[in-house]
Amino acid sequence: VSAWAAVPAGPPDPILGVTEAFKADKDPRKINLGVGAYRDKQGKPYILPSVKKAEELVRTSLPDKEYLPITGLADFTKNAALLAYGADSEPLKQGAISVTQSISGTGALRIGGAFLARHYPHSKAIYLPVPTWGNHIPLFQDSGLEVRGYRYYDKDTVGLDFEGLKADLKAAPEQSIVLLHACAHNPTGVDPTPAQWAEISDIVKEKKLLPFFDMAYQGFASGNTAKDAFAVRHFVSQGHQIALAQSFAKNMGLYGERIGAFSLTTASPEEKARVDSQLKIVIRPMYSNPPLHGARIANTILSTPELYAQWEGEVKGMADRIISMREKLYNALTHDLKTPGEWGHIKSQIGMFSFTGLTAPQTKVLAEKAHVYMTSNGRISMAGLNSGNIEYFAESVDKAVR
Ligand code: PMP
Repeated sequence: VSAWAAVPAGPPDPILGVTEAFKADKDPRKINLGVGAYRDKQGKPYILPSVKKAEELVRTSLPDKEYLPITGLADFTKNAALLAYGADSEPLKQGAISVTQSISGTGALRIGGAFLARHYPHSKAIYLPVPTWGNHIPLFQDSGLEVRGYRYYDKDTVGLDFEGLKADLKAAPEQSIVLLHACAHNPTGVDPTPAQWAEISDIVKEKKLLPFFDMAYQGFASGNTAKDAFAVRHFVSQGHQIALAQSFAKNMGLYGERIGAFSLTTASPEEKARVDSQLKIVIRPMYSNPPLHGARIANTILSTPELYAQWEGEVKGMADRIISMREKLYNALTHDLKTPGEWGHIKSQIGMFSFTGLTAPQTKVLAEKAHVYMTSNGRISMAGLNSGNIEYFAESVDKAVR
């Protein structure tokens, strides 16, 4: 008998499974709005011109292939922290932020989960927004934390359930961990306003919660990296100690290069040094040390002023194209097709995703009849829409909801 004879078949991944169904579909009209990867006006993967230039600079510098240190490329981690926290950040100026390179955002969250499970003395409970990125739940469970939820999304308004959010954070035991999407909340596309962030910060302070920010989309929400870092910087300015996961998958289009960073703000350079030493002890048995190439590309962009300026323009270009697709889709549904229902949220939601309000049966009909693929919670990746497919998509939605 095989050693694996009793291994049960698991379910397909709810997000990556959509791409599998899309690939198997032979209809030329098919559209994949499942996966969160940016597509250009022609619906093709987009390599940022700044990334191409950075890669060329890396190539011509003929770097070696030696191992990186456990916490990665030191210049990269320094520049990644600067991008997130800003030059005015007090803990950054004091040298009190402990940063490590990570296997993109997922790896950053996982390092953070493992570090908190081992070293956060007060609680093992982490509160996640409901809903959240599906992978957060198994990721934090597998890290050794106890996953709980706080209200976030209101189905009736297709917006933020701010009263529910506040009530749930106030009801959480003191010193629990709370995960916050820094901007462009996935899957809802609904973010707190700056005033709401300030209130959340006050509750987090009052309840002594530990805020863990997941910033997978810095620049993608507004087109401006500083603006999208508002929540992170506000919390730090209010004296919170934070944990932060950063990803360069979306804002540099470096998905498969797996480049990100995890950081913790600490009380002093001396404390930072102790935290650094323990981060290494968490990481070393996981994967020893991180890959080189993405760190070199990202660091070249972050540390070369002309490339940095070019990159900021390209981030804005991606955000603007998504915003223009929101406008077009809203107009097609409400003005051209007079589709039943209220579609204002398509325009007001932020970032790569829109929570359309389409039901699971409607998403099934869209896949089977119209060859339009999305996750069954009705989330669409706005970046998958373009002038070539948006009319067909709007007509298909119109038919599905009538
Ligand atoms: N957090 C959120 C909220 C995300 O949407 C994603 C990507 N879908 C990630 C983290 C991690 O992505 P990656 O590991 O590719 O950086």
